[in-house]
Amino acid sequence: MSLYQLTAHELHDKLKAREISAVELAESVYGRIEEVEPHVKGYLTLTKEIALEQAGAADAGFQNGNEMPPLAGIPIAIKDVICTKNVRTTCASKILSNFVPPYDATVMTKLHQQGVVMIGKTNMDEFAMGSSTENSAYQITHNPWDLETIPGGSSGGSAAVVSADTAICSLGSDTGGSIRQPAALCGVVGMKPTYGRVSRYGLVAFASSLDQIGPFTKDVTDCALVLNAICGNDEMDSTSVDVPVPDFTQSLINDVRGLKIGVPKEYFTEGLDTEVADCVQTAIAELEKLGASVEEISLPHTDYAIATYYIIAPAEASANLARYDGVRYGYRTEEPADLINMYKKTRSEGFGQEVKRRIMLGTFALSAGYQDAYYKKAQKVRTLIKSDFDAAFKKVDVIATPTSPTPAFKIDERTADPLQMYLCDVMTTPASHAGLPGISVPCGFVENGLPVGLQLLAAPFEEEKILRVAYTFEQNTEHHLQKPEICNVKGKQ
Ligand code: GLN
Repeated sequence: MSLYQLTAHELHDKLKAREISAVELAESVYGRIEEVEPHVKGYLTLTKEIALEQAGAADAGFQNGNEMPPLAGIPIAIKDVICTKNVRTTCASKILSNFVPPYDATVMTKLHQQGVVMIGKTNMDEFAMGSSTENSAYQITHNPWDLETIPGGSSGGSAAVVSADTAICSLGSDTGGSIRQPAALCGVVGMKPTYGRVSRYGLVAFASSLDQIGPFTKDVTDCALVLNAICGNDEMDSTSVDVPVPDFTQSLINDVRGLKIGVPKEYFTEGLDTEVADCVQTAIAELEKLGASVEEISLPHTDYAIATYYIIAPAEASANLARYDGVRYGYRTEEPADLINMYKKTRSEGFGQEVKRRIMLGTFALSAGYQDAYYKKAQKVRTLIKSDFDAAFKKVDVIATPTSPTPAFKIDERTADPLQMYLCDVMTTPASHAGLPGISVPCGFVENGLPVGLQLLAAPFEEEKILRVAYTFEQNTEHHLQKPEICNVKGKQ
């Protein structure tokens, strides 16, 4: 077994026992990158020099016999929407092709305090707008389970590199499903924490009332470890919430007896792939066998989640993206005729098609005369969606659904039809509206071998409940141990 195949907690034990060094581990991951990255294309930037320096520092700590944090020396990849000091951060957009942040996002500061090893920055849909990573201005990322299919999005690179073992874990961002959906499609664990749980300082803004950073990992234990490292109130983000952060590893309890799981009937309707439905139903039956009580519930406003999302998110995006004007940073057009022409040409040349579509949709939805009809109405529906969940969580502890209505689809299959692409988000956007924590865990495979994800949701700040259910499921099943062919490993000990 090669080092790159192990989880963070397995590697921590080896680093602590000084069986391996962090430099050796980083070299193992870069060796793996040489082997499979030309096929997967999950990275936009590799930071080997920095990584080896960080690995050396972690080794020095272990050698001195210091008590080292659980992520010390662990190779991690970062979605290219998170600002990394002195390391290019493009958001997969041409408009930020030369942007080198002079500061670290709060999550990066926290990870550096742990002593992580940053392997590189991962590919994504431009400004996190998309569900397939095909909207990147730079490259297409391939799903390690079938290189002809997409890895999901928008954090497709972060999901693919964990799946392909070219990182031990990674960070992504989730606005309407961008962590959970690619995690499902790439067969890894992905969690969107409660809105406000993780600081957004240094996360390039897409839709500020929805954006949240979270981890991709190979198992639920690693997910708890990364959460422990990145969660917490931050005075640099006024929407981060001042509530105590529990030790999430305490929720890794292999027992769901006494927990109530709700299964919303609105999620099992038309549009849901039958094989995906089967895998998810089997997973829920497994949880019931393990002692959870399962009941059908109703979330009646589910149907409106996509329409509401595609008003609110573009509206916020149109405001957030106004800052890319070619003046202070980023791309600037050559030889503009005058100032207005400079703005116009810079933005026309710098943004891709989907980003322009969202800016136009959002600007329209916010414009005088239409604001009440679209934006304000969407905000009201958002409240109704949230009240559905509030009512449900009076009855159940956790809600279980499919993460994505389909498995990974072929590259180019949906690019011509934006509405088809937006439908990828049908199972993930409702929880985003309500700010809920949600996890996707591997729960099986469809006949052609592509992975399926089970989504577990809880009330705000109840990540512990979903971690417990996810952990119990994982301890009693083997889906997370399966590896794509590209890894030449059929499962591990
Ligand atoms: N697919 C959704 C969108 O395109 C969600 C993206 C995200 O969560 N960043 O907006």
